[in-house]
Amino acid sequence: MAGTGPEPVQGYQGTRRSLWLAYALLLLAGLGAILMNLAQVLDSKQVYLREADKANANLAYSIAQHGQESIKEADIILGGLVNLLERGESSPETINQLLVTYKQRASQLAGLFVYDAEGRWLYYTNPPPANDANNSDRAYFQHHLHSVSRDTEVSNPIRSRSTGEWILPVSRRFNDKDGRFAGVVLATIRIDHFREFYKHFDMGVQGSLLVAMNDGTIVYRRPETSGATGESMAGSYMFQSDLKRSPVGLGASISVLDGVDRIYAYRALDHFPLVVAVSMSRQEVLAEWGRKTAVVACLVAMLVLALILVGGGLATRMRKRMAAAQSIARENRELFRLANRDSLTGISNRRQFDQALQVEYHRAATVGSPLALVMIDVDFFKAYNDRYGHQAGDVCLKAVGDVLRRFKVRAGDTVARYGGEEFAVLLPHTDVAGARLVAERIRQAVYEQGLVHSGNPFGVVTVSVGAHSEVPAQDDRPEHLLEQADAALYRAKSGGRNRVCLAEPTP
Ligand code: GH3
Ligand code: MG
Ligand code: MG
Repeated sequence: MAGTGPEPVQGYQGTRRSLWLAYALLLLAGLGAILMNLAQVLDSKQVYLREADKANANLAYSIAQHGQESIKEADIILGGLVNLLERGESSPETINQLLVTYKQRASQLAGLFVYDAEGRWLYYTNPPPANDANNSDRAYFQHHLHSVSRDTEVSNPIRSRSTGEWILPVSRRFNDKDGRFAGVVLATIRIDHFREFYKHFDMGVQGSLLVAMNDGTIVYRRPETSGATGESMAGSYMFQSDLKRSPVGLGASISVLDGVDRIYAYRALDHFPLVVAVSMSRQEVLAEWGRKTAVVACLVAMLVLALILVGGGLATRMRKRMAAAQSIARENRELFRLANRDSLTGISNRRQFDQALQVEYHRAATVGSPLALVMIDVDFFKAYNDRYGHQAGDVCLKAVGDVLRRFKVRAGDTVARYGGEEFAVLLPHTDVAGARLVAERIRQAVYEQGLVHSGNPFGVVTVSVGAHSEVPAQDDRPEHLLEQADAALYRAKSGGRNRVCLAEPTP
């Protein structure tokens, strides 16, 4: 057969592939956007925490410096006083006057005091609470009484006996001429001094600042609502762990005082038994990050939604196009079938036969191979119609068509209804002998069907067959083959029907 019909569905697989490709690309784009933003968000969280660590460490350093300077200044004064007392050259008035001057110069001081070996008040800037006041019970006094060390002692904060306010005692021992314990000089630092200094630092609402003794006793802590002066923080992670590992460091923990999750920096003072710590609430540090993350998450969600909508729309459009293409292809196939099939017998129609003849004739002329045509005509068919009716005639034609269909053995063969009760079989690469053989088999097959036809002398439906084969010359026309086969058919008819005739060999 020459015409092969339309391609099943042109580009259908391609469209399907592009659809999947589009899906994959959209998925990739969506995932990429999510992953990139996730990485960015996680990275920026670390940046916020690192910045907070840095700020904490810097602040801890300056607070430690401030504490150190405050105590050192008091210590220098005490050193001078010890010298003065041990030389024993100054009058009580001079010493008292000196104490007042020192206190005026050093604003952190609550008072300066000198106690004798029994703890009695010798010299002081603030008057004693009672005439017989005695400070021998104080921890710093007991320390110096029992220790020969002349080093400065910074003791745990206590309430002043003279003013009632919280103070940090800084003290030294002084000796008599024989090197025996002669008493204690004491400088008290106002805890308020720390409060005033710290109030300038912005630590957020939940941030905290801490100055504490090495044993965990609070000297001053902000916020003051939790952790008052004199209370102990010894159980906190910083005292339990951090400070045992290193005198300076960073950390994070949930406060034992108020339960707030904080990141902090701490630092032990270089020369005194104190430690400072600065912390910020993790929630506050990450608040801005959280807001930005929420905005980014919203944008990503919108982007992904847009991708889904666009992708969904695209997919729907492509699916519709694919369905339309499929249905057009189906219709095309049906149209092709209708245009090329004979509706009664289902074999090729005249239109397709003519096409095939043109194509095969020229192909045979080009390659120089023989092309055979077998023309078949039902005998006495008019009589058949007359006797059995037109509908029975149609059934008979269908039966002949079925027989012929069996003779289409090669792809290039064409079996067609040529018109009315006439059929044609086109056989490429077939010589006269082959054509005669096929023609004879067709004749015999129709005869052997045994379709009763009383108007036929043979008693059954028979066909007359004309066959011809030629190797077409380049300038020959297909009509020549038709004419020759037709002439052969005519000879079969006139020769008595139910027979095969070949065309007369051309002289
Ligand atoms: P011959 O043996 O010489 O071929 O005689 P014949 O009667 O077959 O030839 P003729 O050409 O005189 O008659 C052909 C008849 O075929 C005429 C027509 O009514 C009938 N015919 C043509 N097409 C159809 C068809 O589609 N269906 C039916 N039932 N009959 C058809
Ligand atoms: Mg006829
Ligand atoms: Mg006929």
